[in-house]
Amino acid sequence: MPAVQFAVFGHPISHSLSPRIHHAFAQQFGIELEYRAIDAAPTQFDAAVRRFFDAGGAGANVTLPHKAAAFALGDERSLAASRAGTANVLTRLADGRLAAHNTDGDGMLRDLTERHRVDLRGRHALLLGAGGAAHGVAWHLLDAGVQMLTIVNRSPEAAHALVHAMGEPARARTRNWDELADLGGHDLIVNATSAGVLGVALQLPFTLLGSGAVCYDLSYGNAASGFLGWARAAGARYACDGLGMLVETAADAFALWHGRRPDTEPVYRWLRQQAA
Ligand code: NDP
Repeated sequence: MPAVQFAVFGHPISHSLSPRIHHAFAQQFGIELEYRAIDAAPTQFDAAVRRFFDAGGAGANVTLPHKAAAFALGDERSLAASRAGTANVLTRLADGRLAAHNTDGDGMLRDLTERHRVDLRGRHALLLGAGGAAHGVAWHLLDAGVQMLTIVNRSPEAAHALVHAMGEPARARTRNWDELADLGGHDLIVNATSAGVLGVALQLPFTLLGSGAVCYDLSYGNAASGFLGWARAAGARYACDGLGMLVETAADAFALWHGRRPDTEPVYRWLRQQAA
């Protein structure tokens, strides 16, 4: 019997860790699967996804720059995907339609609260960025009990739109990037900008860190080194990158597709060792 087919779509995609992560999860259960990386330019994304599912594909992960297009392809959309307006998981339903889901928020929360044991209840959090990933995690921070979430984006309109969509004026607010020096200290600072990936160093004041603050960068590897270096220099209690989030988001997709939740810790440690 041929192995069930899965894939990750992106552009570029050769750097993706997803095939290794999904194969490692599958080994835990003795599941035979084929999981490929498919490079699709934006103009070819819809057709490439249709071809994949028409040929028997069961599920696909989707990464930059296709997350909004993946959401648009969904015949059914989960609450997490609808809130974010983007999807990173597409699943073929029994009748052939596609279900769109977004695992970014749950994945970040599990990494922060379970792996790094950060209690978010009653905390003041600062979210830098208002792009796709920030949309994916913002609601989850409130769901986890953050008392006040301040969202700051280089282009203020995107942060205003996100806060407006959240509809929680007493708990989520926005400030402009040029006000960062006046914002005072926070318990948690989440970097959801793509500045690191683009090789740009963010200029952030040390005063953003409250006592015992935790700093979390959604990106990982070299892309996170600038923000994490700043966080350590500013005296953060923890400075974590998004590798754990990546593994947790993959585990959510795996659980959705296979009905079994993998043990993420050995896979996380293996990838961390390889990155060292
Ligand atoms: P988007 O392109 O949707 O958003 C990019 C964001 O970064 C925007 O808010 C943009 O601001 C901001 N930005 C870009 N350059 C700068 C700069 N020089 N200074 C300040 N802000 C800047 O990307 P995503 O939201 O999808 O991804 C963001 C990051 O999160 C990426 O590094 C990605 O790798 C990471 N990520 C990690 C995941 C994981 O599993 N670990 C999952 C998803 C994302 P503006 O609106 O002004 O352009």
